Amino acid sequence: MKTLIKNGRIVTAVDDYVADIFIDGEVITTIGLDLDIKADRIIDAKDRMVIPGGIDAHTHMAMPFGGTTSADDFETGTIAAAHGGTTTIIDFAIQAKGTSMIDALDQWHRKADGKAVIDYAFHMIVTDLPKTGLKDMKRLIDDEGVTSFKLFMAYPGVLLVDDGTIFRAMSFAGEHGGLICMHAENGVVINELVERALQEGKTAPKYHALTRPAEMEAEGVNRAIEISKVANSPVYIVHLSSFHALKRIKEARDEGVAAFAETCPQYLFLDYSHYEQEGFEGAKYVMTPPLRDKSHQKELWTGLKMNDLQVISTDHCPFCFKEQKELGKNDFSKIPNGGPGVENRMSLVYNGGVVQGRINANRFVELTSTAPAKIFGLFPRKGTIAVGSDADIVIFNPNKKMTISASTHHMNVDYNAYEGLEVKGVSETVLCRGKVVVENGKLLGKPGEGKFIKRSGLNLRQQMPQALVQ
Ligand SMILES: [Zn+2]
Repeated sequence: MKTLIKNGRIVTAVDDYVADIFIDGEVITTIGLDLDIKADRIIDAKDRMVIPGGIDAHTHMAMPFGGTTSADDFETGTIAAAHGGTTTIIDFAIQAKGTSMIDALDQWHRKADGKAVIDYAFHMIVTDLPKTGLKDMKRLIDDEGVTSFKLFMAYPGVLLVDDGTIFRAMSFAGEHGGLICMHAENGVVINELVERALQEGKTAPKYHALTRPAEMEAEGVNRAIEISKVANSPVYIVHLSSFHALKRIKEARDEGVAAFAETCPQYLFLDYSHYEQEGFEGAKYVMTPPLRDKSHQKELWTGLKMNDLQVISTDHCPFCFKEQKELGKNDFSKIPNGGPGVENRMSLVYNGGVVQGRINANRFVELTSTAPAKIFGLFPRKGTIAVGSDADIVIFNPNKKMTISASTHHMNVDYNAYEGLEVKGVSETVLCRGKVVVENGKLLGKPGEGKFIKRSGLNLRQQMPQALVQ
């Protein structure tokens, strides 16, 4: 299949120009002005932006949590992602305590096999790390294309690992081209706060937020950074939500530490006041870290502008309001943590970032595609529009408006956290490896056409500004 995309405004992390793109099979083979090459299909992209497909580096499809499972599986979740202009997700496989990471990876491959309509990769959540675990880490990095590992400082008794394990994993990852992603929140102190709140009869959803103060996020981020320095390893903080935590990242980067961090649309566009809604509504926004006071948003945008934050991912982990969120009707600590987002990320960030004048179009592409590709070992195969790169391309209409709603979204969840919000900037046609997956809101891709992508080993120090490389 040969495809020619005509007259589009090609926007990458660094370029912004009008040209045609010729795709032969799965990759881009030619970019130039007025290309006159015979193609099976011609897409007119006049007045449209042509951008690299979005990469969402943080999703949880079909993830078990608190006695239930996130509502999107690899089929519904990737269909929703594709509609929103995302062509690759990096999901989290979970090593259950006492089992091997290899078994966990097999299990997640089975969950995804034959289901995805876009490409996907895996991080590995490590919950314990005996000596044999280091061998598994090496195998994942060298042979299985899983080069990043997530550790939790939160959720004692379930996912939390101690500082010794964090140090061991970081040391190993640093030496072997892996990356440790950290859920940085002091879960031990948070547990005390949760218990105290429940004893005082405070059971409403808002107490989820009130028992997870930003100070405990900052403490986790600080600890992760300091341990990473001693372990001589880069570190990537997931879902950074607060100014307190950002400040630690900024200080570390200013010192030349290879510290990286992502934030998520919910922390940029939603805030604590959502928990104060009537009745049980606030449960829709129970996610970890929680939504913060609105004053944090401006700081996070500054972090995104100044590159102290490098990535916007979603932490997509939807639970239906009915039956799932309701598990915590009488006890906020039993509300499954997570919310939907994979479908709305590109439009939210374009609208809130570019349309509202906070970032330019290049930075929009960088935050949503190029930076995650570089940090997680997918670049230059993915994350840019270049000869030889996968033809993961979004024809994005910067002038089209849409109203976000659960009644029209494709995520398998009965509410949308941005219900009723009008956004400007819509993904119209989406190609994954040269194949049109979505065209004007219609799904053309089929389950199983999305492929598992092995990621390469990482050298994160190369991505620090040159003067800071030690
Ligand atoms: Zn997550």
